[in-house]
Amino acid sequence: MSIAENLKKIATSIPKHVTLVAVSKTKPNEDLLEAYKAGQRIFGENKVQEMTKKWEALPNDIEWHMIGHLQRNKVKYMAEFVSLIHGVDSFRLLKEIDKQGAKHNRVISCLLQMHIAEEDTKFGLDKEELHAIVNSDDFKTMQNIEIKGLMGMATLTNNEDQIRKEFKSLKTIYHNLEKTLPNLDTLSMGMSGDFKIAIKEGSTMVRIGSSIFGSRNYS
Ligand SMILES: *Cc1c(COP(=O)(O)O)cnc(C)c1O
Repeated sequence: MSIAENLKKIATSIPKHVTLVAVSKTKPNEDLLEAYKAGQRIFGENKVQEMTKKWEALPNDIEWHMIGHLQRNKVKYMAEFVSLIHGVDSFRLLKEIDKQGAKHNRVISCLLQMHIAEEDTKFGLDKEELHAIVNSDDFKTMQNIEIKGLMGMATLTNNEDQIRKEFKSLKTIYHNLEKTLPNLDTLSMGMSGDFKIAIKEGSTMVRIGSSIFGSRNYS
């Protein structure tokens, strides 16, 4: 099937309240344009340099989401245009985003990434770190970031019960966070292999790559 057909199939299988991020990392501009022509406007990338090049080359009504692990020294390259940063996993990173947001006179939307998987290779905050960030005095004074919600990745496993359990735990953390931050609207969970479970467990944003663009070849 073509990219446009894949996209249509997925778009019709997810409910209206769930936002689809088309994860285009490693894919050439032509592939993104094909998705764009089929109506897709939100793309997710995991490397700042690659995302910046694509932003320069592609239509300017595309919303660019940074979904990967992010180094602080890279924030400045995308601060001007990024629409949502999914992987904020430290206070130092959040402070840098705030600083770069101020330089560009804008408020940058962010998701805090939680560690919910069993593997310890996946990045993310634990509950104590989350609590420490959102209750700190520094956090309350930040003017150029806005926390929209949480992001998490489940363990890469065929065990659906485990995936479900991990997404449930993220949803619970999200609910609790709403007591401190009442304006949250985004729970980013679910990829090609597990987005149906994620949606059942309350996801409002899915990040789907290979089911749209085909498998990735890393060189
Ligand atoms: C690559 C990636 C995805 C998309 O993965 P697929 O399995 O290709 O859908 C989603 N989220 C993050 C954080 C990723 O790095």
